Amino acid sequence: MTTALPRDLQSALGAFAVRDTILIALDFDGTLAPLVDDPEASRMISPARLALEELTEMAGVTIALVTGRAIDSIMRVSEPLEAWYLVGSHGIEVVSPGKLQHYETPWVVPEALTSAFVTVVDAHPGSRLEQKPFGLALHTRGVDPVIAAAAEAAAHEVCASWGGDLAVRTGHGIVECSIHHATKADGLEEIQKRVTPDATLFAGDDMTDEDGFGVLGPSDVAIRVGGGETIAPYGLADASAVAEALWFIHSRRSSATAGS
Ligand SMILES: [Mg+2]
Repeated sequence: MTTALPRDLQSALGAFAVRDTILIALDFDGTLAPLVDDPEASRMISPARLALEELTEMAGVTIALVTGRAIDSIMRVSEPLEAWYLVGSHGIEVVSPGKLQHYETPWVVPEALTSAFVTVVDAHPGSRLEQKPFGLALHTRGVDPVIAAAAEAAAHEVCASWGGDLAVRTGHGIVECSIHHATKADGLEEIQKRVTPDATLFAGDDMTDEDGFGVLGPSDVAIRVGGGETIAPYGLADASAVAEALWFIHSRRSSATAGS
């Protein structure tokens, strides 16, 4: 198999692939799916989807999607297999396989906070509001940069003047706040507790994914996607490269199984 994966990552993935039980945890937007202006239009690229389907079939492999989206939203855009774990709302929602069908996202954001965000959206053409179970997100992707910056500043102001205990995050074209505090690290650790894998791989492209990288150990693999300042020892350019890494794991694990 020819590969453009960096050599050091290849050896890390090779060692990871042959552990008895592995957890492959992946952010969705920007990691498995290219970033798009309309969050509802976001879809996994098919090489990544196929790799995850194949990996799901392998003994000892657990797949998890770890996203800032609400469970409700990640289910719509990712169409998860039944065997997958889902972490939504940056670690607040953690759903095990088989629990998905009866899972209902709780929606508990105060009305006053919602209407303050609606005011921001109304004043900045093109910006959009996403309602999350424990928070709100202002989206500005594709919006005129001047308007986007003004909208983001206004959203930050709403959060600052709310006075309560809001967790505020800024990402690619997004400002969001939540009324509960959790990070992707909490979600990742919760799955690790349920699955007890020998090793974990986590890949993501956002600042919020750095929390996840922070709880990985020496036998785990942390991959920052798309560049940027990171504590992850490895990097990949985009979803296509992530798909390639997934196929690499699949191929190494297949040969190891065939040889034993
Ligand atoms: Mg992302």
